[in-house]
Amino acid sequence: MAEIIDGRAIAESVVVKVIESTAALVSSGITPGLAVVLVGEDPASQVYVNSKGRRAKECGFHSVQHNLDADTTTQDDLLKLVAELNADPAIHGILVQLPLPDHIDADAVIQAISPDKDVDGFHYINVGRLGTGALDEAFVPCTPAGSMLMIERVRGRDLSGLSAVVIGRSNIVGKPMANLLLAANATVTIAHSRTADLPAVARGADILVAAVGRPEMVKGDWVKPGATVIDVGINRIPAPEKGEGKTRLVGDVAFEEAEKIARAITPVPGGVGPMTIAMLMAATVTSAYRAAGKTPPRF
Ligand code: NAD
Repeated sequence: MAEIIDGRAIAESVVVKVIESTAALVSSGITPGLAVVLVGEDPASQVYVNSKGRRAKECGFHSVQHNLDADTTTQDDLLKLVAELNADPAIHGILVQLPLPDHIDADAVIQAISPDKDVDGFHYINVGRLGTGALDEAFVPCTPAGSMLMIERVRGRDLSGLSAVVIGRSNIVGKPMANLLLAANATVTIAHSRTADLPAVARGADILVAAVGRPEMVKGDWVKPGATVIDVGINRIPAPEKGEGKTRLVGDVAFEEAEKIARAITPVPGGVGPMTIAMLMAATVTSAYRAAGKTPPRF
């Protein structure tokens, strides 16, 4: 049976460090500030934004939330707000919750955020910093950053000699994940929907990261014995056994099969999921340290 990598516990340890680092910075007169912008009333986005705000307060941040109306907010309004937040010295992290309504060009808004406050790591400058291995200056998208921290906890910071396979090539998860693994010296393969014989590719992985969005696609016999398996997928599927109309969450990995083969594996829920917001808090305190010319904590 594999070690179950406890995302909740690791996320808590990250938050504890954020709280300590924040307290140290506050005592020198600087409070990390996080601004979260939500346009519209998408229920899932509201849940995310509220938990980000709650966590930010728990960390001792100056936390502001801008709720804008989906029908009356224009792209110019949003760009103006981003410009104000860019110029506000009390704000160290700016997060615009996606998705944005159709009449707003999300990319134009993301690229308007100052790269030095882009705690989501979506600005091209940060994509470039990560791609060139300038990790001390980059902001890295929070989900792959959290996944990487889990891998480090199991296999250490140096992955020399290990082969890593990332299934999924999105800009938010797959590609930054691959770059992080490469920066840690793993030999990296990015697999995706056009990959031939995916099970065989996956079986070559000492570290297997699934970021696809297809429930339980990765079967037990895709897993190399002794591999570390990171399941990024969050999929809601019907659960008639819990009652009519009930659902449950599963990952992209068939957990029960894979845990018999892997050395370590993340569960869903309770794996990568809790890491994402914790890493956002880590990025915000890091940004505040950088703005103050101080060396940020290492997570
Ligand atoms: P995406 O849809 O942008 O990308 C999915 C990727 O999977 C694509 O690159 C595609 O090529 C690949 N893919 C699709 N079908 C495939 C197949 N049959 N075989 C191999 N590859 C295939 O999704 P995303 O934003 O990268 O998210 C992936 C999953 O991670 C989703 O389940 C999402 O809900 C989850 N997610 C979780 C968190 C978190 O906090 N834990 C954050 C972001 C995303």
